[in-house]
Amino acid sequence: MIKRLLLVLLISSALASAQTTAFGTKATANATTPADTAATAPAPKGAAKATEVEDDNSVVITPFRSLTPPEAKTSRTFQLSKVNKLGFTETSRELQRLYSAFATQRIIDGSPSGSSKATGYLATVNYSLVQDLGDNRFLAKAAWPATGPNEVLAAGADTMAVLLLDKPAKVGDTGKITGMHVGTVALRFTANYAPLTGKRFTLRREAFVECATLEDSPAGLQKFVEAVIAGAEMSATTNEQIPCKKCGGVGFTREAQKGQLLDKRVPCAECVSGKVIISVETKFIP
Ligand SMILES: [Zn+2]
Repeated sequence: MIKRLLLVLLISSALASAQTTAFGTKATANATTPADTAATAPAPKGAAKATEVEDDNSVVITPFRSLTPPEAKTSRTFQLSKVNKLGFTETSRELQRLYSAFATQRIIDGSPSGSSKATGYLATVNYSLVQDLGDNRFLAKAAWPATGPNEVLAAGADTMAVLLLDKPAKVGDTGKITGMHVGTVALRFTANYAPLTGKRFTLRREAFVECATLEDSPAGLQKFVEAVIAGAEMSATTNEQIPCKKCGGVGFTREAQKGQLLDKRVPCAECVSGKVIISVETKFIP
């Protein structure tokens, strides 16, 4: 269901980026323009043109900007067979923490393993539907928290956004979804809400696809552990604090002062109190 709906959005939005989608398939690289995708028949040149524009009630969603999740800066492994063994850093508490991150980074699709790595950021989106754009796509007033490293997706508050919902809905409906951010899209449409009713224009808005994440539960963790032991390749990306390389983790650098015994301490510009936060990919191994 989700896969089909995502395809609807991908096709209608003609996602131009060749990046791998959430489902491991290449998006088609047909960078169509609104003019190409408008469903109207070719109109005669000249005078007929103005009429054609007025009658054009088609909805066109084209990608404006896609957010590519940043690559992890470093990677490490987490070995399940070492969990809670003396002398190893692997603990059940750390496993739980990493699994929670994993669960929020995977969305459920129709694949046999029931999960697929999401390529967008997941956010809880509260919405109120403003206009039905067809194919379960809606223009909505929405709110979501800032998401991603360095809040790459800024928070929305009472912000117009484009949503692709899992089920049919109607204007005026309110609700909450787990949405995967699929970039900023340019939406060309004719508004049918006050005070813009009848106006045809283009909005650039963040777009979200409703999705379900893996269950962050003991049963979910058990299934995950079994999958890794059976040879599944799983990884989670988290932000981790590591000691700063520039200052050696002390939070300042030393500068010799002429005629003074003690060096001057200069706060390190690259860290906070000797710690830096970097994106780490943890690969799970049996
Ligand atoms: Zn530093």
